[in-house]
Amino acid sequence: MLPRGSTIGILGGGQLGRMMATSAAQLGYKVIGYAPEGDNVGGAVSTGFVTAEWDDQAALAAFAERCDVVTWEFENVPVETARAIDQGKIYPDPLALETAQDRLAEKRFIEGLGGRPAAYAKVDSSHDLVAAVDRLGAPGILKTRRDGYDGKGQWRIGSGHEAEALNVPEVPCVYEGFVEFDAEFSIILVRNREGEIRFWDSTRNVHEGGILAASHFPAGEDIDAQVGEARELARKVADALKYVGVLTLEFFATREGPIFNEMAPRVHNSGHWTIEGAATSQFENHIRAGARLPLGDTRTTAAEVEMRNILGSDIESAGAKLSDARVHLHDYGKAEAKEGRKMGHFTQITLETRG
Ligand code: AMP
Repeated sequence: MLPRGSTIGILGGGQLGRMMATSAAQLGYKVIGYAPEGDNVGGAVSTGFVTAEWDDQAALAAFAERCDVVTWEFENVPVETARAIDQGKIYPDPLALETAQDRLAEKRFIEGLGGRPAAYAKVDSSHDLVAAVDRLGAPGILKTRRDGYDGKGQWRIGSGHEAEALNVPEVPCVYEGFVEFDAEFSIILVRNREGEIRFWDSTRNVHEGGILAASHFPAGEDIDAQVGEARELARKVADALKYVGVLTLEFFATREGPIFNEMAPRVHNSGHWTIEGAATSQFENHIRAGARLPLGDTRTTAAEVEMRNILGSDIESAGAKLSDARVHLHDYGKAEAKEGRKMGHFTQITLETRG
C-alpha cells in the first residue's frame, strides 16, 4: 500500500487529471502534474505542476524522482515519455498507450483477441483510399491513425467520387466502413495488480458532431443485451496488457452484436457520472489501483443518472442549472471557452425510479 503522504505523478494537465488529483487528495496523497505549456487545469488542484515538453529528459527525470508512482490522464502522451519513467513506477504499462495510439495496431490487437471492429483498410495514399472505398463501400470514415480525438482527424466519405476528390492527409490513415448502429456504449473497468477486475454499469452514450454529448443510465435493453459480450472482450484486453487502473472500450450496439470502436487506456468522459452515481468513482479506483489500495465497489447508487457535457460558452450560465437539486456541476476551470471545447459537465442524479 502506498503510504499516506506519498506522491502520485500525473502526465497530462486536463480535466481528467484534475478529477484524478481530487480523488488522490481525498486519499491522502500529494499530486504533481506534468505537461507542456497550456491551459493545464489539473495544476489548480495539484500539490505541484511541472510545465515542460514531453521530450525534456532532465525535467522528466526530476519529475519522476519526486514521484512514488506515475500515471497518465492523456492518451497522446508520447510512448517514449512514458517509457522514460522507471517501469516499476508507472501504471498502466506503456504498452497500453502504444496499442491505443495507433488505430490500426489497436484494431489488429482487438481482432487477435476475438473482438470485432468495424470493417477497415489501411490507407497511406489517395490510391489506397479509392481502393478501400471500392472494397468496403461507402459511406465510411477516413481517420488518421494517430492523434485523433473528439472527431478530429476524421472525414466522412459519402461515395467513391468523394473519395477520389478528397485530399488525403499525408499521414497514415485507416478507412472504416460506416457502422449502422442502434446505440453507443462503453465498458469501463478497473483492474488491480493482482488481476482483480470490476466493471461499472454501461451507459447509453450520445455523440453530437463526433463529441460525446451525454451518457444515460439505465442504458436501455438494446445495450444491456450486449454488455456481457463486450465485457468479455474488455476483460481479455485488460488481462493481455496486464493492465493496472481504469480502462475504457467504446462499442457500437448493432443487430449483429457489439462492434468495437476504440479503446482509451485511461479514465473516460463516459464515466464522469460515476463521481455521484456510483459507490466508487472511476477516478478514485484508478488511484486506488495504482496505490495498491483495495478496489472500491463500482455499483450504481442511483435509479437514473444523466451526464451532460458543457461545451464552449455554455459554461457561463451553467450555475443556474443548480436550481434543480438533482444536478451537480463540474467546472473544469478552463480559461478559454472556445466553441466545442469541453468546459465542464453536469450530472443529474435521480434516486427513485419513476412510476
Ligand atoms: P471516434 O473518435 O473514432 O470514437 O469517433 C467519434 C464518433 O464518430 C463515434 O462515437 C461515432 O459516433 C462516430 N463514428 C466513428 N466511427 C464510426 C463508424 N465506423 N461508423 C459509424 N459511426 C462512427
